[in-house]
Amino acid sequence: MSTEYNGYITTERIDGADDGPLAGRTVAVKDNISTEGVRTTCGSAMLDDYVPPYDATVVERITAAGGTIPGKTNMDEFGMGTTTETSAFGSTENPVAEGHVPGGSSGGSAAVVTAGDADMALGTDTGGSVRAPAAFCGVVGIKPTYGLVSRYGVVAYGNSLEQVGPIAPTVKEAAELLEVIAGPDPSDATTRDAREARSASDSRAGDARETSEERSEDAYDYAAAADGDIDGLDIGIPMELLDGADERVTEVFWDAIDDLEARGATYHDVDLECLRYAVEAYYVTAMSEASSNLARFDGVRYGQSGGYDGNWNETFARAREEGFGEEVKSRVLLGTYALSAGYQDKYYKKAQDARAWIKRDINDALEGADVLASPTMPVPPMELGESLEDPLTMYLADANTTPANLANLPAISVPAGETDGGLPVGLQFMGPAFGERAIIRAGSALA
Ligand code: GLN
Repeated sequence: MSTEYNGYITTERIDGADDGPLAGRTVAVKDNISTEGVRTTCGSAMLDDYVPPYDATVVERITAAGGTIPGKTNMDEFGMGTTTETSAFGSTENPVAEGHVPGGSSGGSAAVVTAGDADMALGTDTGGSVRAPAAFCGVVGIKPTYGLVSRYGVVAYGNSLEQVGPIAPTVKEAAELLEVIAGPDPSDATTRDAREARSASDSRAGDARETSEERSEDAYDYAAAADGDIDGLDIGIPMELLDGADERVTEVFWDAIDDLEARGATYHDVDLECLRYAVEAYYVTAMSEASSNLARFDGVRYGQSGGYDGNWNETFARAREEGFGEEVKSRVLLGTYALSAGYQDKYYKKAQDARAWIKRDINDALEGADVLASPTMPVPPMELGESLEDPLTMYLADANTTPANLANLPAISVPAGETDGGLPVGLQFMGPAFGERAIIRAGSALA
């Protein structure tokens, strides 16, 4: 296993069952997903030696399906970042674009897949953390509908936004891994049965050609949907997601759309003014939730001890001062501020209003299209070190991925091609709730 690009934090093998759909395959796991007996750091010095006493549901499902876990992958600290540079274990380098970031926060997961050091991987996606690294590394990543995949045993960052998602070289393989991890879990009350959700849906639910009974029956047949058949596919393109994008990216995007059109798809522009507010709504929501979710890392309940010396406030403060990196500290502070009495209405509540607006308008747009397409990332992979100095620019790079999280909808990133300079560009399809089959089918036409 090559390690020079720093994709893994821990390489301890967890063997899977002898047979099953993943037998003989390795599935690397992001280091914020609990593995019994194998340390789980979240990319943070705070959890440097934390060893969970139980497996996350997704880990149980992978090993029961025959998958072997070769190790735990590098990530931005607690998932906070877009480049895997905020990890306490050092940056990961993009294995297919030397000197560039692999995307984040699941950068280690995408890097080990593209480097061939795992067949597939799991990431988590709160605002794009599966899709961004998939796009930057030239592989496939899926952010499932909120509630499709259990979050039990996943360390929470922005719990109302995040889902665990597969990363793999092809859409079919990503779909196979999704089949293994999807489905309700009694340990996570936010999970839903896709069968019920789809039969109840009177929208297109991803495939106008299916009746509601058919939709319900094949609800979890994701790999079968990766058939590349896009004849008649109706694609909506929100121009707001192209306006600010780098020309090197939009060129590759339109070439890919031309290719899809030549194979029987049609497309039309859609106008989604609400998307201009997605990044703001996302960061206020994510930071607010993070400020609450990360309260447990105080050195007593979890994390490195602050060394009790008679004053608990100081003990907690010391643990957090020493254990958290800069990005985590500033987000906890901003989130606490946005939730504080007097500012709650101005920030947190406004963000929730924007979220409701985004949800409603995207769902409306999906009444008039099977899927919505955009570049996954508005920019090609940044150079290592470039965005650390400029967090605002880094936040803006999430403009195209955050809408799916805010609207709880499924989205896939597939390789669309490369810039003239050889940097990977990803194309994103967003679909209706529990319409994973629609985005998988559309994506499989490209990868
Ligand atoms: N880049 C976004 C953030 O920093 C998304 C991260 C994620 O999806 N975990 O919050």
